[in-house]
Amino acid sequence: MKDKEEMHAYSRAIETIESARHITVTGHLNPDADALGTALGLWWILKDLGKRVDVLFVTRPLPQALSFLPGYGKIKHALHPKSDLLVSVDCGSFDRLGIERPEGMMLINIDHHQSNTRYGDIDLVEPHFASASETAFKLVAAAGWDVPKNGAVNFYAALVSDTGFFGYEGVGPRVFDFAKTLLSLGADAEWTARMLRENQPLSKLRLLPMALETLTLHLGGRVAGLEVTERMLKKSGATVNETDDMVNYARSLATVEVGFLTREEPDGGIKVSLRSKSVVDVAKIAASFGGGGHIRAAGFTVYGMERDVLVDRLLNMIKKELQQ
Ligand code: 5GP
Ligand code: MN
Repeated sequence: MKDKEEMHAYSRAIETIESARHITVTGHLNPDADALGTALGLWWILKDLGKRVDVLFVTRPLPQALSFLPGYGKIKHALHPKSDLLVSVDCGSFDRLGIERPEGMMLINIDHHQSNTRYGDIDLVEPHFASASETAFKLVAAAGWDVPKNGAVNFYAALVSDTGFFGYEGVGPRVFDFAKTLLSLGADAEWTARMLRENQPLSKLRLLPMALETLTLHLGGRVAGLEVTERMLKKSGATVNETDDMVNYARSLATVEVGFLTREEPDGGIKVSLRSKSVVDVAKIAASFGGGGHIRAAGFTVYGMERDVLVDRLLNMIKKELQQ
């Protein structure tokens, strides 16, 4: 966005929020810490403005491991009929919200996905930002709204999680300035790290060896694939969101540039997570399968395709990208 156009979008968003009566903040299906933390952070901030605010996520069950986020227990699963403004966070395309948009309801799209389709009436999309909470905070700071401690706690968890604990590409002085601000507002670094890393359900650890057993190397070891089947989920008792960071094991190998994980979905689809280190633009590959994401982390879901066929197609695309 150009500077002037951008400030215009932020001012319009501030005006729209300040004149709304009942705001619903929502995010993508199968939400991660960025989606939940950004939505809940905004919930605390907007509530303090005296607004009626709901946080809505249609996915059920929500990831239990993220129940430490303040306000988690207040999350709604259906849109309140009196709501007059929708705010979406961390969601690249409207269909990923999993809701119908009531006619005439304004929508503000707060995101950081490179692949964002600009589906809002007002789009605040910052592809270079490390988390959706950074975009949300830019709005909050521009408006001069107060950030209560629980708002900062949520935004910080979102930031830590989406930056891989400050280790991903794009982490620089701006991100640390944001983290510093959130810590000054009451977020706790040690507690957040513990909650994100050492608060896992047993089912997730039971699933891990089953998934690692499927590890397969391709293209001379530059690509590694993992598979999670419905049977494995059933046997371990894990819910789908418990596979969320498993793809990182595939990428963690020294020779690997691209790691992927396929997961069988209850509706017959195959969900694919893609991660790269420094060369391959996985958002581009995901987009060609109808998905999206970021340059080093992206995903998509396919229907009516055998896994073998899917993996062949995927490897062909990765091979081309690796040759460039
Ligand atoms: P994950 O592999 O963890 O599900 O997702 C990695 C990144 O890609 C996230 O930023 C996520 O929002 C995005 N992503 C995953 N699946 C899809 C999809 O089907 N469509 C789009 N547009 N983005 C996706
Ligand atoms: Mn995000």
